[in-house]
Amino acid sequence: MDAISLIERIASLAKTINNIEVIELTNELRLEIATIKGTLADTVIENQRLKAQLQKAATSVSEMTFRDGLYWKGDDGPFCTACHDTKKASIRVTLMPFVFAQMGKYSCPVCSAHYC
Ligand SMILES: [Zn+2]
Repeated sequence: MDAISLIERIASLAKTINNIEVIELTNELRLEIATIKGTLADTVIENQRLKAQLQKAATSVSEMTFRDGLYWKGDDGPFCTACHDTKKASIRVTLMPFVFAQMGKYSCPVCSAHYC
């Protein structure tokens, strides 16, 4: 027997014995259970969202390969290792202008990391 069915039985008994205090407590309990069910539903939705986010992040990590000091997705890339390792963000690095070539070959547009 679920909680709602139990409450309904108690409410029915409370009406039978005509005890106002038990009837009021039963009504309060009914509201508390409704609140808990709403919170549980929100938690289930949040849990599903987080599971999907975790699966997406795990898939993203497994697709990446580390090559020549940067991450690649097959031939796509290169991607910033700092952004990926710290924020799980796949940020393409850009070629440095020739005048800044001594700082590195690539630069991350988000975290400004330089890569040779
Ligand atoms: Zn970065």
